Amino acid sequence: MSTLQITDLRASVAGKQILHGVNLTISSGEVHVVMGPNGAGKSTLSAVVMGKPGYEVLGGSVTLDGVDMLALPAWQRAQAGLHLVMQYPSEVPGVSLDHVMEQALIARGRSTDGLDELLEAEAARIGFAPELLHRALNVDLSGGEKKRNETLQLAVLQPRIAILDELDSGLDIDALRDCARRVEALTNDDGPQGQRLGALVITHYNRLLEALRADVIHILVKGRIVATGGPELADQLERDGYAAYAIADEPEASAPGSLDDLFAI
Ligand code: ADP
Ligand code: MG
Repeated sequence: MSTLQITDLRASVAGKQILHGVNLTISSGEVHVVMGPNGAGKSTLSAVVMGKPGYEVLGGSVTLDGVDMLALPAWQRAQAGLHLVMQYPSEVPGVSLDHVMEQALIARGRSTDGLDELLEAEAARIGFAPELLHRALNVDLSGGEKKRNETLQLAVLQPRIAILDELDSGLDIDALRDCARRVEALTNDDGPQGQRLGALVITHYNRLLEALRADVIHILVKGRIVATGGPELADQLERDGYAAYAIADEPEASAPGSLDDLFAI
């Protein structure tokens, strides 16, 4: 059993604070969904937890089974069992998917016996063309193929906790169902390390949640979780939008000598 614990996480990017104290606890087998309007900080949250360069942590903590993730570079977080499915997967010319999977398993101290068979089986399971296994990672793939590719990597690596940033963006309905079902199965079945996947799923749409069943829904607005509830919260959002969760902008301190002073008397 693994637990990712995010406590009072505050972070900025390009000098602007985006996360204002996020708290989330995700354990093996659980599906936590984060929904929120554009610009709320969802991708920033995934980037800070995974250790993408360019983000400054201002406070709080992120631990995986008690180990401080914020002290580690991204590759060591991955070795520890964290995995990010990116909203916009990178194209990596000259490096094939099967080679990446082989090296990733070796880096984790895991066996590569039977890897070719596993890759073929996983490709068949999610409708990923097997010839793409030997092509350069994501180069010239369609949006749907890239997300199937990301899902395949998740299924082969079987991390402890995965963050999925808009798995549904750029996917047609068939690919969405295939990918969502595969992730759902990972959260239900014990993996090679004897535990089920815990997932933090970022999405805008209920449709993803038809095949990938949420245990808990969180609503992130302006860098804070403003509501947490069961799957019914996603239905309510679909109906009513985010209006009920609107938070006023914090007033900016006006600069001395600014026009505001004219009205200060
Ligand atoms: P979401 O994924 O919820 O739509 P993001 O986390 O991508 O939101 O963005 C939150 C805010 O942070 C936005 O206002 C965005 O413009 C800003 N932001 C994100 N990344 C950067 C960056 N690298 N440089 C400058 N601003 C950024
Ligand atoms: Mg985003």
